[in-house]
Amino acid sequence: MPKALETILEIDLGALTHNFNYLKSKLLPKTKFLAVVKAFAYGSDSVEVAKHLQRLEVDYFAVAYAKEGVILRDAGITTPILVLHPQSTNFKMIIDRCLEPSIYSTKILTEFIKIAEEQSQSKYPVHIKFNTGLNRLGFQENDVDYIVSKLKATTSIIAKSVFSHLAASEDENELTFTTKQIETFKTIASEFENKIGYKPWMHICNTSGVLNYPKATFDMVRCGIGLYGFGNSTKEDANLKPIACLKSVISQIHTIEKDETVGYNRAYKSQKFEKTATIPIGHADGISRIYGNRKGFVIINGKRASIIGNVCMDMIMVNITGISCEEGDEVIVFDSNHKASQLAESANTISYEILTSISQRVSRIFLK
Ligand SMILES: *Cc1c(COP(=O)(O)O)cnc(C)c1O
Repeated sequence: MPKALETILEIDLGALTHNFNYLKSKLLPKTKFLAVVKAFAYGSDSVEVAKHLQRLEVDYFAVAYAKEGVILRDAGITTPILVLHPQSTNFKMIIDRCLEPSIYSTKILTEFIKIAEEQSQSKYPVHIKFNTGLNRLGFQENDVDYIVSKLKATTSIIAKSVFSHLAASEDENELTFTTKQIETFKTIASEFENKIGYKPWMHICNTSGVLNYPKATFDMVRCGIGLYGFGNSTKEDANLKPIACLKSVISQIHTIEKDETVGYNRAYKSQKFEKTATIPIGHADGISRIYGNRKGFVIINGKRASIIGNVCMDMIMVNITGISCEEGDEVIVFDSNHKASQLAESANTISYEILTSISQRVSRIFLK
């Protein structure tokens, strides 16, 4: 691996293959695999990640918004794409680009049918989302009759799947709640199937669902974070490989006397003669201000250097007192040894947030 000369996000597609195969090894061969590539594939690069997974013959993709799906279609992705949170203003675009909407409310159902009929669609695939306890998006159990009547009254759309989303699949203390969600989902799905007269696929598991509730993998699973190398537990983290490594470089080193201050608002005051390094990565690159004032850290020549003072827009300053290093040396913000989840923990957040925050200003480099 070449040494970083500027801030870069290295994406290891070999690690992606490993994670995909590991998650698939938890499934029956017939269970389909949907890769969640929303939010630039969790801050990596949705196009390269989707192309790689398409080569590995993934069954489905999901994005949050229609525009994210359009980017994949423009890049030549032909695998089906589920849009998890479509807005009706994008329905024409969705049909135009062969994206498949999640239908989560009576309003969205009515509006999508209207557009599908206007466009003379026949059996356009949609995915009916039920709320089983997350209380975020989805129909309720007692909406089944209404949905079925709407579907029976049109030939323009067909329910390709019914699905739901778990609220706490990573939390073993919520076993009872999660089991109840799965049971509620099964009841709704079988009622739906009986009333509609055909069998849509069923899916409810995200990554932690796959790892903790293997009996609930049904016809398809929807994995995001696991593909990117995080299993929401120490045990599962050991089986996965983080695909992203965020690297930078030391721009400048300063030596400061006792009682000098560092950065905006003079937020850090030195206790003694100290050495600091300035790194070209700031909140505009995704290092939130939360990581300032010694909450966050970077790794320089194997040693932890904490972020001192406030995070600037384009830079951070770190304490390198006692670390042997020089200008031009590589800086690791996170990699497969110094995990993004650990850095996230230091600021009371989660891997999902730090990964998806890495801004588009940071160049992505792909290791094949
Ligand atoms: C983001 C998302 C997922 C993926 O969850 P992970 O925990 O990242 O595996 C699955 N389903 C839905 C509905 C989502 O919004």
